[in-house]
Amino acid sequence: MRNQIAAANWKMNLTITQAEELLNTLLQQPKQLSDHQKVVFAVPFPYLPLAKSKVDGHTNYFVAAQNCSNKKSGAYTGETSAEMLQSLGVEYVVLGHSERREYFSESHAMLAEKVNIALDYSLTPIFCCGEPLNIREAGTQNSYVEVQLKESLFHLSAEQIQKIVIAYEPIWAIGTGKTATADQAQEMHAHLRKVLSDKYGKEVADTISILYGGSVKGSNAKDIFSKPDVDGGLVGGASLVAGDFVQIIDALK
Ligand code: PEP
Repeated sequence: MRNQIAAANWKMNLTITQAEELLNTLLQQPKQLSDHQKVVFAVPFPYLPLAKSKVDGHTNYFVAAQNCSNKKSGAYTGETSAEMLQSLGVEYVVLGHSERREYFSESHAMLAEKVNIALDYSLTPIFCCGEPLNIREAGTQNSYVEVQLKESLFHLSAEQIQKIVIAYEPIWAIGTGKTATADQAQEMHAHLRKVLSDKYGKEVADTISILYGGSVKGSNAKDIFSKPDVDGGLVGGASLVAGDFVQIIDALK
């Protein structure tokens, strides 16, 4: 079975004390995961060493950064490199979140560079894609998301693309409480898998985990994750609430 992943995206939330409390609560009696099930905490940069020390010793629990630089090293004040993340033992990095694309002008080309550099330092990119509301209303979401994949990922080899996790996050569903229906998620995920299959072949496409993100909660995770092409979720708001996130982990196939 493909990897099924519950990824928490804390965004720019919590103090260090609150972060430690949340991790302690979640990891006190962590759910025992099957080989194909993984839990990832994408925490703010300053909390990475703390989160790493908390997940260490818990099988299939990992830490992610929420971004990394497209530059290797040098005079880039305020940036964090993939190499730095690797040196902390970080395993995943969220790339191309819609908030980064919108507020920090991350382009397809810049994201392709970030994907490359993340892979160079053995980080698994969780590559986000998804359409805004006007595109969904116009019914052109499939081609919109397809372009995001093609422009930032399709330079990769078949071996490299299998190291990527994709997160489909319709922007109109992020932080709005407006979740895509399980059928809408499945429809897009199946489309993305077809696009991957057309480029890399079905065998490769079938290994790639595609997460859904957008107002996933404890109460709707099971329904969404039950769909055949939905391999878990990237979760913002609900990942800050221990009870909710535990339910989301429990909902993994
Ligand atoms: C996200 O930030 O990736 C996200 C999906 O947020 P939320 O779950 O709050 O909609």
